Amino acid sequence: MRTAGRHFLQIPGPSSVPDRILRAIDMPTMDHRGPAFADVGRQALEGMKWVFKTENRVFIYPASGTGAWEAALVNALSPGDKVLMFETGHFSSLWKSLALKLGFDPEFIEGDWRGGAEAERIGQRLREDKSHEIKAVCVVHNETSTGSVSQIKAVRKAIDEAGHPALLMVDTISSLASIDFQHDEWGVDVTIGGSQKGLMLPPGISFNAVSEKAMAAHEKATTRLSYWSWSDMAGPNDTGYFPYTPATNMLYGLNEAIEMLREEGLENVFARHIRHGVATRKAVHAWGLDVLCSRQGDESDVLTAVLMPEGHSADAFRATTLKNFNMSLGNGLSKVADKVFRIGHLGDFNDLMLMATLSGVEMGLGKAGVPHTSGGAQIAMEHLKETSVPS
Ligand code: PLP
Repeated sequence: MRTAGRHFLQIPGPSSVPDRILRAIDMPTMDHRGPAFADVGRQALEGMKWVFKTENRVFIYPASGTGAWEAALVNALSPGDKVLMFETGHFSSLWKSLALKLGFDPEFIEGDWRGGAEAERIGQRLREDKSHEIKAVCVVHNETSTGSVSQIKAVRKAIDEAGHPALLMVDTISSLASIDFQHDEWGVDVTIGGSQKGLMLPPGISFNAVSEKAMAAHEKATTRLSYWSWSDMAGPNDTGYFPYTPATNMLYGLNEAIEMLREEGLENVFARHIRHGVATRKAVHAWGLDVLCSRQGDESDVLTAVLMPEGHSADAFRATTLKNFNMSLGNGLSKVADKVFRIGHLGDFNDLMLMATLSGVEMGLGKAGVPHTSGGAQIAMEHLKETSVPS
């Protein structure tokens, strides 16, 4: 049966693609080796440097974020290299498994899935590593499975204070263009990004921003690679081209997305996300429910993971909001499956979209018989009334 009105895609990515970007993608395919393509390629490569806040190279892959994770590791490391990773949740765990499958030696600092990576524990482990066996520290900036943020500046400081030469690799797949991130200023060596969240694009392209130090490590690294090779990309990229067929129509969309971010201003985009994150957490607390992230200051402004009261199924609740209100909420992943639901508030998102989302959650809680106090959406509305959209 047809469902009237638009679907509310409130998962924490892929996020809804704005019409402007859909229109930009909706173009005849062009010759990716012809003269007109160079401008498209150059614009995308230069624009992404602005998004990552870097003067160095950004590589664009026709792959989902997982591809860019793999690219970061295989370009900069040699077989068997030890990498220090922090368990923030499902995605850090997947990245660790990927490192293991590729023949690296990941060491996981265990976490409780209720906050970001703990810089002190990373620093402590690095201080113990007197022979500098650890070649890279890998951290997820915004852990999409838990709604927790890692403080990257603090991790950088911990590496520096330990006097350790390891590369710093950061996954910004769900934070890029939503939460402030500064590749150069924060001393990150490889940043991994994806198209389908803050960049407001469909899934399908992903990124590596690469420091000079990481590029130098790549020159010496001995892992066998072909498709992901930074050095094979660099030559053609210098003139706006790619060594193989790029995702041409996605690049039209990417250039439009970058233009939209420039029009709004990145700092305003971040402030908009903060305001929606605060309003959402106020609603959750007013309902009498708990946010999964319990470490103050690490709460994500991209998504909010909400803990279900004991004995209630998050998946049954999500099925209720989908059936009754045509709204998809994010599910709990692996360790927190069925225990949390995730509200995405990212990308091309405004106050009324947030109010509709929170109203849908509140009505869903009622319909699904989940114990809560009514009025959370009202509390969020008060916050939106009292604060203003950045101009
Ligand atoms: N890292 C994070 C933080 C993610 O949120 C995701 C996907 O949601 C990934 C990595 C994996 O990216 P993809 O599913 O695009 O391969």
